[in-house]
Amino acid sequence: MSATIDYCYHTHTYRCGHAVGRDEDYVINAIKSGIKVLGFSDHIFYPGIKQYGSRGNYEELEGYVNSISDLKDQYADKILIHLGFEAEYYRDFDYYYKELLRTGIVDYLILAQHYRYEHGRLTHYYGHSRTQEDIREYGRELIKGMETKLFKYVAHPDLFMASYPYGFDEAAKEVSEAICQAAIRLDMPLELNMGAIRFAGQRLIGNEYRYMYPYIPFWETAKRYGVKVIVGIDAHDPRDFLDSRIAIMTDLVEKLDLKHINRLDI
Ligand SMILES: [Zn+2]
Ligand SMILES: [Zn+2]
Repeated sequence: MSATIDYCYHTHTYRCGHAVGRDEDYVINAIKSGIKVLGFSDHIFYPGIKQYGSRGNYEELEGYVNSISDLKDQYADKILIHLGFEAEYYRDFDYYYKELLRTGIVDYLILAQHYRYEHGRLTHYYGHSRTQEDIREYGRELIKGMETKLFKYVAHPDLFMASYPYGFDEAAKEVSEAICQAAIRLDMPLELNMGAIRFAGQRLIGNEYRYMYPYIPFWETAKRYGVKVIVGIDAHDPRDFLDSRIAIMTDLVEKLDLKHINRLDI
């Protein structure tokens, strides 16, 4: 299926502590690159949790909402802007996600299960998972989040393979199948994420030379199930919209013949 990337629903801001640039420059460069729909989805700020360098503090909420809302109006005739968050699903914050959506503070949420949550703290990063136990846990926790229906899509569902040294073994296959089955059952798109192509390129993981993600065998599984696929630039710098490696993503969609969708219902 041919893919034109004239959208991005996965965009960060400097508030997360590992992205750069002014909010407005993301909008300006998105317009330059031909993007028609731009969703800001910074790493969610959790009340009571500070995770410097990974996400902004809860106190940034008002500034984030005001800034993106102003840009929405200011650029309304050039680009459609949505305001959201990229969030893990943790039961302890169930009420918070629902309030953000119910009150219209945000337009949408995307699901990304980056960390394990233990006793009010974010601990193990699933992108560093090196055991079958850890990747199976990732799959279970991710699917719990998918089942809430609070999220429009799953960002980098193949994150669990980022450091996993055993390749597409039995556990990796099981987790991939379970995620794809859930995506079909819940009619939820999965995101082919560009982030790791930018920050890591190809590297040796176990004895495979590959991207951390996208992890191709995962996406072959998605193809087999007929899962809907959306591309995420996962911009952390306004220049990311002009990165020529976006072509790698369109090539993957075409070569793997994925069921590409280019709009979310927001
Ligand atoms: Zn980030
Ligand atoms: Zn992201």
